[in-house]
Amino acid sequence: MALILDGLKIRDQILKECQPRVAALEAARCLPGLAVILAGDNPASEIYVRNKVKACQELGIYSEKLTPPETVTTAQLIEMVESLNARPEIDGILVQMPLPKQVDAKRVLLAINPDKDVDGFHPLNLGRLVTNTPGPRACTPSGIMELLKRYNIPIAGKHAVVVGRSDIVGKPMALMLLHQHATVTICHSRTSNLAAVCREADILVAAIGQPAFITAEFIKPGATVIDVGINRLTSREQVASIFRNAPDKLATFEKRGSVLVGDVNPIDVAERAGAYTPVPGGVGPLTVAMLMANTVEAAERRLDVCSA
Ligand code: NDP
Repeated sequence: MALILDGLKIRDQILKECQPRVAALEAARCLPGLAVILAGDNPASEIYVRNKVKACQELGIYSEKLTPPETVTTAQLIEMVESLNARPEIDGILVQMPLPKQVDAKRVLLAINPDKDVDGFHPLNLGRLVTNTPGPRACTPSGIMELLKRYNIPIAGKHAVVVGRSDIVGKPMALMLLHQHATVTICHSRTSNLAAVCREADILVAAIGQPAFITAEFIKPGATVIDVGINRLTSREQVASIFRNAPDKLATFEKRGSVLVGDVNPIDVAERAGAYTPVPGGVGPLTVAMLMANTVEAAERRLDVCSA
């Protein structure tokens, strides 16, 4: 039986460890503060932002949500970011992606003070990651590293294959595994013989955004499989085929009109992997937990500066 890597359990551990740190910061009059910019009206982004604000409230972190309209310009967003940069009580600034199409997202990210870049997307922080020096790290891959560490999954000397090369998941994931001494292969849409490359992996990370794409032939028996994908299935045929007519999934579909699935086939991975993250309840919860940890860490740095 494959071990299910429980993201909810690890999330709770991470958040619990943040609690005394938040209390100490509050006692030192340095309550952590997170500002989230949610531009336009993307329903998925609204849910993500709601979860982030809720996590702040539960942890006692100050949060602020700014909601410019869909028509916002790059210049207006940069101005908003700059005014948040100037406010000492704001430790973290998060610009929820994707931004409306007329906005130059790279310029907006570049405007964030790198010390307040709790998403770890600023080029300076990506450089810090490349050189393995301290700085805020991208939340999803750093959450995955926490999960692997806390489940004692060996990394050093193992072959890790990361499918997906985005700046926010695939690339930082590959670098973090490399820093922990894995031998890393990065795959993407032009990779030849993808299934054969994946089958070499002791640790396989799928971050591609293609529902249940990674099937049995991609998985080495006993491998650790991390499924980053979050895909919403809205066709009954697809749900029936991917979940092989599982009655609970079909019932969920009838009730809600959709079912979530990762980038990995959920039945194949349970049959072949040694350990794997489920969807939902795997990687997703870790992302928000690491955002909280990054915000607390930014406030601790502020306190160090204030008391120096
Ligand atoms: P992007 O769309 O930015 O990147 C997708 C990557 O996958 C690209 O590098 C692309 O290759 C590669 N890819 C796409 N199709 C294939 C294929 N058929 N074979 C091989 N490689 C392929 O996505 P993100 O990295 O932002 O996100 C990936 C997934 O993770 C999404 O489902 C997203 O919803 C989810 N996600 C989940 C989070 C969480 O908290 N759980 C957080 C962030 C993302 P190429 O570069 O060649 O185009």
